[in-house]
Amino acid sequence: MALHAPLALGSSLEPTTEAEDFAAAAGVCRARVVSVEAFRHPVRGGIFTRVRFELLESIKGSFRKNFTIVHRGGMVDSEGESTGLGVDFRPGDEFLLHIGKRGDGTLSVLRGSNGAALLASETKAVASSASKKLARLRLLTRPEIRAAVIGSGEDFSGVQGMNTAASLGAVSSSGLLVDTNSIPSRFTAADRGEPIGYLVDAQTLPSGIDQAVALQAVTNALAAWSAQTSLIFRFDGLQDFGMSAADVTTADGRIRISLHDSFGEIPSSSTLGIGGRSYVYSGGLGTTGGDGGAVDGLEFHKSTRGYVVLNHTATTMQDPKSFEEVLCHEIGHALGMAHSSEVETETDTVLKDAIMYYRVHKDGRGATLGTYDIPVVRKIHPHDDTPPFSNDRILTLVTAPTAPITGVPGVNEILLAAHDLQSPSSSLTIITNGLADGSVASSGFVGNLLRFTQTAGYADGTLDPATDSFYYRKYVRFSDGANSSPWASVRVVATRLDSQGDGLPNSWSTQHFGSSVPSAAALSRPNDDRDRDGFSNLQEFLMGTIPVDADSRLAVRSFDGQTIQWTASPYALYTLESSTNLSSWAPFGLPVVATNTNAGTSVNLLPSGDAKKFLRVRFGHAP
Ligand SMILES: [Zn+2]
Repeated sequence: MALHAPLALGSSLEPTTEAEDFAAAAGVCRARVVSVEAFRHPVRGGIFTRVRFELLESIKGSFRKNFTIVHRGGMVDSEGESTGLGVDFRPGDEFLLHIGKRGDGTLSVLRGSNGAALLASETKAVASSASKKLARLRLLTRPEIRAAVIGSGEDFSGVQGMNTAASLGAVSSSGLLVDTNSIPSRFTAADRGEPIGYLVDAQTLPSGIDQAVALQAVTNALAAWSAQTSLIFRFDGLQDFGMSAADVTTADGRIRISLHDSFGEIPSSSTLGIGGRSYVYSGGLGTTGGDGGAVDGLEFHKSTRGYVVLNHTATTMQDPKSFEEVLCHEIGHALGMAHSSEVETETDTVLKDAIMYYRVHKDGRGATLGTYDIPVVRKIHPHDDTPPFSNDRILTLVTAPTAPITGVPGVNEILLAAHDLQSPSSSLTIITNGLADGSVASSGFVGNLLRFTQTAGYADGTLDPATDSFYYRKYVRFSDGANSSPWASVRVVATRLDSQGDGLPNSWSTQHFGSSVPSAAALSRPNDDRDRDGFSNLQEFLMGTIPVDADSRLAVRSFDGQTIQWTASPYALYTLESSTNLSSWAPFGLPVVATNTNAGTSVNLLPSGDAKKFLRVRFGHAP
């Protein structure tokens, strides 16, 4: 299992002086990293990383010889999380640390990477400014502040962790938050023309900011990003999360924005907010990415949720424009942006003027992107050329005892297609060199038709299609010339034995016709239509309907002008087609993957200027 800790840099920070940082820290010390481990937090649920240190020198406070800090973010079991507050800790590296203490007693680094200055490393370049800072801080200490005992707090050592080489990856030159393999992540909803839903927790607000002002700031902050990208957002309402927005682990593709930090997410009073996101990657795609598609050749993991938590007690946040600026910055992190610069004395005005500069500007700009931010966010979410998208599919492999079954239309083959907001499906190119694994079959392509060839005759077996189990799996994606869709999987989730090799499994024929041997007399051969519902027995097998019940067939069940419903088979893909004359048909809307039996499914019909329009439902994609 791939396992890494993703890159995360500091977050919106109050501009503070060295003396203020020193005063705000519970402890300041020089320490060496002993180990870095990612783990699932037993209470909070998200992914955290614990970093064990060996103390080299106490400057403020009395530390134990060995102490542990815990911070949000890391990668465990095909899931990763990162925020704007992680630090690049690697075993052996020596740091000057500003340590804070959370309400639960755990230790953390104050102000993200701003509170951890690298002093010595065998693998990374060390800035000389860090040792000068150390020399200055030594002058600030006094015996009485050196004495205060710093307990190391809970480190959840009872929870199994995964050792990692670093707590985040090499700093990306792309301006994006990335993992240790330099892979960023992105939300894919906008590729389908769909909005990202967001929820707002406004239970508490900074003094002087009322709810109307706060919600307008959220709207403005999101609008600043959507104006420059394909992203659209949908307000899903106010909600009391009852916990930090970062702790809500529901992977529903939404962004949760908490306008307050009542649950102690932010470890430092001079950190004005955090923004982050979780992402997933499939087996085999951990080191290459691709679950989130590719934009101009850059591969992405798939973002599964985003969050923002604001520090409502900071005085800076009482100013509506600064509140809005910090919101916009943290949403940038949730969308996958890293900082433009973490240099306090940055002289490049483009980097310093960016909304993603690590320190708040506090100059009344509000939610205004800089010239730096626009091309960078478009690397993730392009403005006008979105990646294509397709659907995961499943298949039942019908096997004969000896020779493989070939040439039976629809059996052991599946027609694939993708969609794109800018290009017709027919212009998209299938990419066939994706990962294949599993032993029951091999696969090959004829155009967009994916064909499976059994490796032996297999007895009946079934896996739950709702899980990601498979007997055989093949990854496929499509390209629009510049961008690629996420890799989609086609999984063999069932095997059936068919002694005749005609495509109808023995067990299916026995269940419906009382015999595994098809006969003309029983109308139980593949091309017979026993129940005379217009679909052959073989078609009924492929569509998951009952061949001896004329009422069990693919048919439109209801249509009220807004919603169309049809008989469906769970996990099967259906496409709608429309016509004004019943002779020429065109694709209508996006394919629908059914979620349940018979209940069918529905789509909202778009308003149309046509005097009349006919709709029909097709099983699978059009040839
Ligand atoms: Zn930040």
